[in-house]
Amino acid sequence: MNGDEFRHWSRKAADWGADYRETIRDRPVRARTMPGHIAGQIADHAPESGEPMEAIFADFERIVPEGLTHWQHPRFFAYFPANAAPASVVADYLVTAIAAQCMLWQTSPAATEMETKVVDWLRQALGLPDGFSGVIQDSASTATLAAVLVMREKALGWKGNGEGLAAHSPVRVYASRQVHTSIDRAIWISGIGQANLVRIPTKGPLNGMDPEALDAAICADRAAGLIPAGVIACTGGTSIGACDPIGEVAEVVRRHGLYLHVDAAWAGSAMICPEFRVLWQGVEAADSVVFNPHKWLGAQFDCSVQFIRNPEDQVRTLAIQPEYLKTHGHDGIVNYSEWSVPLGRRFRALKLWFLLRHHGLEGLRTVIRNHVAWSVELAERLAAEPDFEIASEPVLSLFSFRHRTAGDPDAHNIALVNAINDDGRIYLTQTRVDDRIAIRFQAGQFDMTREDARAAFDVIAEIARKLA
Ligand SMILES: *Cc1c(COP(=O)(O)O)cnc(C)c1O
Repeated sequence: MNGDEFRHWSRKAADWGADYRETIRDRPVRARTMPGHIAGQIADHAPESGEPMEAIFADFERIVPEGLTHWQHPRFFAYFPANAAPASVVADYLVTAIAAQCMLWQTSPAATEMETKVVDWLRQALGLPDGFSGVIQDSASTATLAAVLVMREKALGWKGNGEGLAAHSPVRVYASRQVHTSIDRAIWISGIGQANLVRIPTKGPLNGMDPEALDAAICADRAAGLIPAGVIACTGGTSIGACDPIGEVAEVVRRHGLYLHVDAAWAGSAMICPEFRVLWQGVEAADSVVFNPHKWLGAQFDCSVQFIRNPEDQVRTLAIQPEYLKTHGHDGIVNYSEWSVPLGRRFRALKLWFLLRHHGLEGLRTVIRNHVAWSVELAERLAAEPDFEIASEPVLSLFSFRHRTAGDPDAHNIALVNAINDDGRIYLTQTRVDDRIAIRFQAGQFDMTREDARAAFDVIAEIARKLA
């Protein structure tokens, strides 16, 4: 492809993207295709000779959009948001065109130095003390894996990587049942094993882990000759927004000399608003904190920020320096690939730089405060209806509810969420609260308005009553 063609098709892609965002409200939020429908339209073999871009682009327009669930739809209330504010999308177009591998300082100094700066902007914006450094990871799952590997290595006197785990007593990690499944996977991948992920009971309105139960579990493991390594706490659990009492957990962790990782993948973005920081009070005592600007802050996926108190521990755990990766003569530089599991790295800092400058922190705070207020308003309206009940109270912009029925409540609410999603005007997902099905609602898409939250009430009530 020559320069002129590249220019032409890049413009075409940018136009398509802008048109897509402008007309997204006309589409059903969740994809309506049946399994296999898209695959059936894609050739079974790669072509032997090249095809014209016109044909490829036309097929894209014909086949792909109808097979999409529209995460940028203002009435996407499922899971958590995956925002991609246009300013960050523009930056990512540039990153895609530049296509630099930013693993070492010298493989793109601009990427490394901008990363250090914007991560520090975010540290300040979230109210974290200046003792924290940070790094952009691809996902919270990767950040949590890195933290689990660090806690494992520290607990084993830095011998796990070298000797493997068989040479040691079992390493133990503690978390409540409210943490995300990425914690389980980090435990599997790190070789610690599910049997050594100790679940601590929760209590209170925020479903946080009980610090006394945590203390007792660590003491019992020590007495049994096991090796307690660390605790994974959550601020804003995925199911109902559970928040562990970080300060009290940190106190137990400190007393036992363990490592504390806080998963705030979703809720962390809200901490740019000082009034929400009570939800992670005491976080300054954590060793590692992860949050996803690619969720609620508006950065195009992928962009997960891990703040780390002692990056030397993470580098000691993860860095490998073969000769071909050594950079001679640049003392004091940072090679961020030594802080993460993958070697290759995209230039992710650019979209944060564009995003934060374009919206300003005050602009982003307004977006998040609105989402919280509109979500609380919807929860109050549903609670006031005799045939609805709130299953979990709002934590920031997330709550869950049930429609009451004379029949089987689980079957009825599953049928309701399916009917709502088939209808297509809004999109919701379900969870379990006290072992019963509940329907989750979260507000978080950047273009949503108060009117969208109100429309959600109308759709939910209309379909629930038709079904009952
Ligand atoms: C979304 C989420 C994750 C996983 O995030 P990825 O970046 O997709 O790995 C982990 N923890 C919590 C609390 C989340 O909400």
